[in-house]
Amino acid sequence: MSYIQALRLPQALVDMGYQLAIYRGDLEHADAPGNKWHKLKYNIAQAQAQGAQVIASFGGPFSNHLHALGALCPAYGMQAIAVVRGELQPQLTPTLQDFVRQGGLLWPSSRIDYRAGMESLVRQEIETLYGECYWVPEGGSNQAGVLGCYDWAQSIAQRGGSEFDNWVVSAGTGATAAGLLASPYSPSLSVIPALKGGEGLRADIIAWAEEIALMQGGASGLQAHASSFQAYKFRLYADYHGGGYAKFSPELKAFLQAFALLNPNVRLDPVYTAKAVFGLMQEMQAQRWPHKTNLMIHTGGLQGWRGYSGYC
Ligand SMILES: *Cc1c(COP(=O)(O)O)cnc(C)c1O
Repeated sequence: MSYIQALRLPQALVDMGYQLAIYRGDLEHADAPGNKWHKLKYNIAQAQAQGAQVIASFGGPFSNHLHALGALCPAYGMQAIAVVRGELQPQLTPTLQDFVRQGGLLWPSSRIDYRAGMESLVRQEIETLYGECYWVPEGGSNQAGVLGCYDWAQSIAQRGGSEFDNWVVSAGTGATAAGLLASPYSPSLSVIPALKGGEGLRADIIAWAEEIALMQGGASGLQAHASSFQAYKFRLYADYHGGGYAKFSPELKAFLQAFALLNPNVRLDPVYTAKAVFGLMQEMQAQRWPHKTNLMIHTGGLQGWRGYSGYC
């Protein structure tokens, strides 16, 4: 199987000369598909290097990140602990059921305490019981997470991704986008946030990308490299959040139904990748999209469909 597959676009976009393919990140890893394994890779390595037995993290009840963490930890002999946003419902979500089945431990937290993150009371309670843990921030979005996505860009390029003018990726925190952007293996990068206020990610993505480029390339080339992130390599489209995080509008649903008719072999996830492909096609339709040959990076998330009723 090739990791890169052509997508069929609506005829009007084909007539405009646009091409779109998809990098099947959703098929890369059986237990932890998409970007989350890449974000956890160096976190798990660091945890092991520090001699930690427990990796703890944060997430919502449908979190792709917690799902991947729970799936990966047993193979490394690590105990996974999840601090879950909000109270735990008596009937766990499918995501959290998988987490527990794989040996992970769940800790509910009030929304207020959850927001305190590393300063939360629940963190102190967990460390009292389990000793010092290796903590991964929500979404796996720290420097180690960005570095994993920096590596991912190279493998995407080597699997045929270097043939394209432009890559497209969805964003939550922007850590994945930053890793891809920092890599010399990515061509230009279009980033489409799934949350409101996505314009604010621009500075974060650039700062993270510069940090990683500096770590990898040394200070010398940084100035030129950093300004190139701004000047032509990176574009952000903040208007396709569709009402906000995890909002699934009738418009998005209709788009997905049309997409599925044209591309029955590819599923997009409702929270991230669907919004990115929708946004990309809207921009093409409006003749604002500057790149002819495009590669959408599928960041996974299909397990999240289990939180939705209706189309999947
Ligand atoms: C977590 C996630 C993202 C967002 O990744 P960031 O690094 O936070 O920008 C995108 N797509 C899917 C499917 C995800 O699960």
